[in-house]
Amino acid sequence: MDTRPVVLSVEGFSRSYETHRAVDSLSFQLHPGEILGLVGPNGAGKTTTLRTIAGVLPVKEGRIAVAGFDLARDEERAKRAMRWIPDDPQPFDALTVLEHLEFTAALYGQRDWRSRADELLARFELGEKRDAFGGELSRGMRQKLAFCCAWIARPALVLMDEPLSGLDPRGIRSAKHEIEELAREGTTVILSSHLLALIEELATRLLILDRGRKVFEGTLDEARVRFPEQARGSLEEIFFAATGEGVARVDGRGAPR
Ligand code: ATP
Repeated sequence: MDTRPVVLSVEGFSRSYETHRAVDSLSFQLHPGEILGLVGPNGAGKTTTLRTIAGVLPVKEGRIAVAGFDLARDEERAKRAMRWIPDDPQPFDALTVLEHLEFTAALYGQRDWRSRADELLARFELGEKRDAFGGELSRGMRQKLAFCCAWIARPALVLMDEPLSGLDPRGIRSAKHEIEELAREGTTVILSSHLLALIEELATRLLILDRGRKVFEGTLDEARVRFPEQARGSLEEIFFAATGEGVARVDGRGAPR
């Protein structure tokens, strides 16, 4: 039996838009320090799932709990435990980079924010922009600021939607390093991306969605057992096998759905 604390619990989550079922009966759990790679073809339901966990969309069917707090009944405490990094973060025009960190630290009750802010700005190479306003930042800089804001008060869970898409090569390298460091410190990360090489490099677990349904959940090694013909292949080959026609829908632990 798994005795690790559960950071994120998703049980029987479904979401429909009008008559279209975007996510269908999704269940999974995450533990401290895990990095979940959330992948799937366009329209698979990844963003709908992430936005619902983040509290942007309401939970209508199923149950989602973050750090033990039910998102529907204890929304504030559930949200305090997590951060959300969208693919194109929009900082406040009227706040400087440093003020964003001060504001975020105040929101999450982080007192000794100043030295942590200096450290993060240096790590993400934003030091020279500390006094620039949100509206003066390039896309990649907005992305880096979103990382700094997510990191300033250590959260239990960080949700990231294509987090590296605006970064330059050096930014990508430091972001990857920082994501691994954050997970090593115990934060749980969900990384949604079409960059399968990135997922392969960072993720400790995989969740593959296709047309709203879970088609695989488990480690990459478990995926290789599940898709033996792709056993020595890359995640890309496993992805195509999992989301191809006629593949039985089974999770990584072998439980039929
Ligand atoms: P992508 O990789 O293209 O970003 P995704 O896996 O994030 O896709 P979602 O954005 O969650 O997929 O969309 C899942 C399904 O829900 C799609 O069929 C999409 O058309 C539909 N959908 C998403 N948002 C809405 C909306 N606001 N109104 C109606 N349908 C929507």
